[in-house]
Amino acid sequence: MNKRITIYRGSHQIGGCVTEIKTENHRIVIDFGQNLPDSKADDVMTDEELLRTIFHGESCDGVLFTHYHGDHIGMYKNIPKDIPLYIGPTAKKILEILTEKLDSIPETVEKGLPRVQGMKEFCPGQKISKFGDIRVTPFVVDHSALDAYMFLIEIDGKKILFTGDFREHGIAGEGNTLEKMVNKYIGKVDILITEGTMLSRREEARWNPIQTEKDLGKRARELFQENKESVILVSSTNLDSIMEFYHALPWGMGFVCDAYQAKLMLAAMEDKGKYYPKYRPEMIHGKPRSLFIVGKMEGLGREQNCYKADFDILMNKGFTMLARESKPMFAEIMAKFPDPLIIYSKWSGYLEGEHANAKIQEFIGNHRMEKLHTSGHAYVETIEKLIRLTNPEVIIPMHTECAEEFGKIEAFVSYCDKVRVLQDGEEFYF
Ligand SMILES: [Zn+2]
Ligand SMILES: [Zn+2]
Repeated sequence: MNKRITIYRGSHQIGGCVTEIKTENHRIVIDFGQNLPDSKADDVMTDEELLRTIFHGESCDGVLFTHYHGDHIGMYKNIPKDIPLYIGPTAKKILEILTEKLDSIPETVEKGLPRVQGMKEFCPGQKISKFGDIRVTPFVVDHSALDAYMFLIEIDGKKILFTGDFREHGIAGEGNTLEKMVNKYIGKVDILITEGTMLSRREEARWNPIQTEKDLGKRARELFQENKESVILVSSTNLDSIMEFYHALPWGMGFVCDAYQAKLMLAAMEDKGKYYPKYRPEMIHGKPRSLFIVGKMEGLGREQNCYKADFDILMNKGFTMLARESKPMFAEIMAKFPDPLIIYSKWSGYLEGEHANAKIQEFIGNHRMEKLHTSGHAYVETIEKLIRLTNPEVIIPMHTECAEEFGKIEAFVSYCDKVRVLQDGEEFYF
């Protein structure tokens, strides 16, 4: 039987990802991501070429998204309307809140919410049998996007594990869950398609004292105790870090954010609190910790334990405020604080160098700042562990700037004969 894998985008970059799995009669696409704005790769297909190549003429049984980051989902609006889209249930809720906000920006030409609402939800651990001879089982995996998935794809007796973005040093990875899951449900595979973001960031990872989300929470608690006023720059959907900050805040201090951020937290807690204690509310005197809202309340209130932020009171008690450099309101509010500490909880690459972000630099200005961030991606040791556990015949790297060097990296040398580097658009038959 003729069956093949093609990475159309993402074989040699950290950024847009698009992968196709095809048999004689069926075809699925995994992720349909936008290239990052500062993508270096100039030889990759343009969006138009990509759309024409993938969706012109040939039928497609579905597009499955590993998670809601833009480099995996960003081009969903361009997918022909008759092709079903699949995503995890909590990821869909997060994406709905995010899309509602994006749709409300006047420059947004095409509203995304109807398409997002129409996405089908898959169930963790349950085989999807909608794609003919291609059977896909999604498994929850730890990542800086909540409710991210790996896919086990079974075709004609062959097993492919597609990792998507993953790690094991966040909340979902605690307690060696990756190893337990692979041993129990996946076992040996024929082909492993693995992300390799951290391969070009090994030095950075080595020197970061914050190796895990737990480390982040510990250091945050110290910072909150030492600083009565702090402002955290963190991605609004990096909910693992946000929940660590939320629980690290000492009693009596106020947790401040805007309504959009509060909605994301509430949705995450509602779904994931069942599985992870860190996603449950912090109980203070038998009551869940209140969220103090800056800007419009957007329908939130007492019922959700949300109250309008009053800085006359908050400045007395001490507080931390989650902020986004993209929303001018936060800088305006921050200007009223006497000496806030900025806790910078994003990739350090945005602070200086070729990926520097002017808005972030401007937001930080001359304020006191401490970096407090851990990567959303697997360290080399975690990738090596996954290779060891799944014992694949073929290893295909993607979502990495180090595809060509993959087999030469010390931890992977013993697997170098198995590494198969694909070019964007190259068809790999198996
Ligand atoms: Zn991601
Ligand atoms: Zn990614």
